[in-house]
Parts: sequence; structure tokens; C-alpha cells
Amino acid sequence: MAYPSLVVDVSKVDEMRGIRDDGDALVIGAATTHHDVQHSALVREHAGLLAEATSTVADPAVRHRGTFGGALAHADPAGDLLAVALAYGCDFVVAGPGGRRTVAGADFFQDYLQTAVGPDEVLVEVRIPKLGAGWGHSYVKFNRTAQSWAIVGVAALVKRSNGTISEARVGLTNMGATPVRASATEAALAGADASAGAVAAAAAHAGEGTTPTSDLSAAADYRLHLATVLTRRAVLTAAGL
Ligand SMILES: Cc1cc2nc3c(=O)[nH]c(=O)nc-3n(C[C@H](O)[C@H](O)[C@H](O)COP(=O)(O)OP(=O)(O)OC[C@H]3O[C@@H](n4cnc5c(N)ncnc54)[C@H](O)[C@@H]3O)c2cc1C
Repeated sequence: MAYPSLVVDVSKVDEMRGIRDDGDALVIGAATTHHDVQHSALVREHAGLLAEATSTVADPAVRHRGTFGGALAHADPAGDLLAVALAYGCDFVVAGPGGRRTVAGADFFQDYLQTAVGPDEVLVEVRIPKLGAGWGHSYVKFNRTAQSWAIVGVAALVKRSNGTISEARVGLTNMGATPVRASATEAALAGADASAGAVAAAAAHAGEGTTPTSDLSAAADYRLHLATVLTRRAVLTAAGL
């Protein structure tokens, strides 16, 4: 297969760095480093889950060089930020010879290491919708050694009101070829009592619809077990329980 040649104007890369407030969304340039995302006051204010998850990516040296857009475009299912992007319902802006287009979050991650970015396109920025007040967040990552990749990770966003969970969004890291939402858990949490028992019952469904692999780090059934345990912990923390 012949690939089109992609000529990148390096002077444009500077335009792909930075974080800006765009009203109802936070916009993060693809070439913004993990370090800058982690320490951004805007990200902490409007996308605290992203700041939290980014702080678990590798070590400071990697976070100073690696980029938000590079991690998402690479689409390693063990990467921590993919599940976060899914949970927020981010939009992905890609650009190529035909101009710019926006890809909805649910359509961006297509298969193992494959995204909707075409061979003659680059990811230029990611739009994170502001969720508003009342949301808690937690990213829980299980790994064998400090600062290493997730065996399984869970990104949870939970909105509470009047003693109930009104909405929950749960993204799973490394539970298949692409990041996935724990849809059955989310459905069980919607309108549930904000109690430890209700959260545990909902978290028991976290593995439904997932297709984890077995590898040197963990067998598939162990990943399924981890998904339920980590989902319970992440949702409890995000719900302030
Ligand atoms: C030792 C080590 C440990 C790590 N641990 C973790 C971890 O625990 N959790 C985690 O989530 N990540 C981890 N990472 C990944 C790291 O955080 C980087 O995000 C990742 O390597 C991408 O780096 P980069 O931005 O330099 O992209 P590159 O390595 O330059 O690019 C990665 C791929 O994406 C493509 N690409 C890059 N930018 C774009 C773009 N804007 N548009 C289209 N395609 C693009 C490149 O062509 C390449 O194919 C680790 C990396 C290392 C080296």
C-alpha cells in the first residue's frame, strides 16, 4: 500500500501547543506536553480528572516530553488518557490537505493503535466539554511498579445530587483493543443511592462488554476482576463516599 507523503510545517507545531478556554469547552493543543496539562490551572478547574490521570503517566522526564495529542493519536489501550477522553466525551479536531474536521469521541478510537486520524492528517486539538458544577472525579490505576503502564485503569466522573448519583461516566483503560466505557455500570449508577452498597453492585458489571487480553502482566480473567474492584474504588472516591 502506498501512503501519501505527509509534509509537516514545523512552524505550525507551536500553534498546536497550549490550553485555552473556549466558553463551553476547554481546548488543548495536541502538542501540549503532559507536564503542561498536569499543571494547568484551567485543566484543574474544568477537567480535574484529566489533571489527575496525567499525573500518573510515567515519570516527570516522560511527562516533560510526551504530549497529550501524541498519546491519544498513538492510541495504546494501556495509555491512561484515552479512557479519560472517552469519559469526558471529547471531540477530536484533525487536519489534513482537505482542511479541518471534528471527530466525536466515540468514533475516534477504532482498533488497536488505530484512530480516525487519516494517513495524511494530524490531530491538532482536543475539545473537552465543561461539565459544570457538582461532579467529582477519580482515576485509579493498577500497575506492578510505580510509574509504569496500567494493567487496568478506571476513569470515573460522578455527579451527585440529594443523596443520589444522578449521572456517572466510567472509562476503562486496557480492557480491550480500544478504551471503552463501562456502560452497564453507568446505567446501574444513574439514579442509584449514593451508598457504598449501590456502588459495589454497579461496579460488579464493569467488565460487561469488554474484551481484555492475556499477556505477561495479567490474564484476561484477572483483568476482569481488577475492573470491578478498581471501578468500585474510583466511583466511591468520585462520589465522595
Ligand atoms: C518509559 C515510558 C513510560 C510511559 N508510561 C506511560 C504511562 O504510564 N501511561 C501513559 O498513558 N503513557 C505512558 N507513556 C507514553 C507517553 O506518555 C507518551 O504520551 C507517548 O509515548 C506519546 O509520546 P509523544 O507525544 O512524544 O508522541 P510520539 O511518540 O512522537 O508519537 C506517538 C505516535 O503518535 C503519532 N503522533 C504524535 N502526535 C501526533 C499528532 N498530533 N497527530 C497524529 N499523530 C501523532 C506519531 O507519529 C507516532 O506514531 C510512556 C512512555 C515512555 C517512553
